[in-house]
Amino acid sequence: LIDCPLMALLEVRDVSVRFGGIVALDSVSFEVPEGAIVGLIGPNGAGKTTLFNTISGLYKVDSGDLIFRNKSLLGQASHRIAASGITRTFQNVELWPRMTVLENVLAGYHSRFQTDYFHFLRAGLRLPGTRRLERDAKVKALAVMRYLDLEGLADQPARGHPFGILKKIELARALVSEPSLLLLDEPAGGLTHEEVDRLAEQLRRLHADFKVTLLVVEHHMNLVMKVSDRVVVLDFGRVIAAGTPREVQTNPRVIEAYLGTQQNGAA
Ligand code: ATP
Repeated sequence: LIDCPLMALLEVRDVSVRFGGIVALDSVSFEVPEGAIVGLIGPNGAGKTTLFNTISGLYKVDSGDLIFRNKSLLGQASHRIAASGITRTFQNVELWPRMTVLENVLAGYHSRFQTDYFHFLRAGLRLPGTRRLERDAKVKALAVMRYLDLEGLADQPARGHPFGILKKIELARALVSEPSLLLLDEPAGGLTHEEVDRLAEQLRRLHADFKVTLLVVEHHMNLVMKVSDRVVVLDFGRVIAAGTPREVQTNPRVIEAYLGTQQNGAA
């Protein structure tokens, strides 16, 4: 095999983000190769969620650039970024609790494909083309829900389900628009031991079946090391290591960052 470097789907170039006096990201640079699973780790407060919020257009960068498919994401609203093929899940799951599970999943489809003014006009006039689009959207949503074993919940309200199910609903919403890059914020957080044990396998399967590139923030070290092709380590807003799981695990700066956290935690 020829050693051919993969094309970068997302390039994080020298990105800095400050909140008042706090530097949340400090000249962060790394690449997410197309088709890879990249783990993003680091102690609490390292800047992982800030980076996700920046990529998905919720936070502005103070300097640097984010290049997705050779085009800058800067200045684009969140729905435009979703429409260009980047979707995400949230650390604490963000759903519309009173809407049904199916409606929540459909929202992910609409956020990508129906952001234009003319769609709203067509939908308002109930034109035939719109009805066909709605039907296609429903077929897609139900297919993703079947894949994640959620189909039986389609007409139930999203609220009141166990956390593992809520996370799956959110995942279905992020997948239904067939993103090219999926940002997963702590997929193992709040899950039972058994659910976490199954997660590595599920993520690998999903990555292959949906042909989606994954950027995964996760504290669960075994999971990150098992599932990732590459791992990027943040500490105090800076990249302190990047490489294969093995390279990162044996990197003295990474060991020090994590031991420091444990000692601080014990103090
Ligand atoms: P955790 O693993 O605990 O979720 P993290 O690596 O995701 O942490 P961030 O939440 O990105 O870290 O926080 C990075 C730094 O930026 C922290 O010092 C945090 O307090 C600060 N920060 C994050 N969001 C905001 C905000 N909206 N306003 C002010 N400061 C913020």
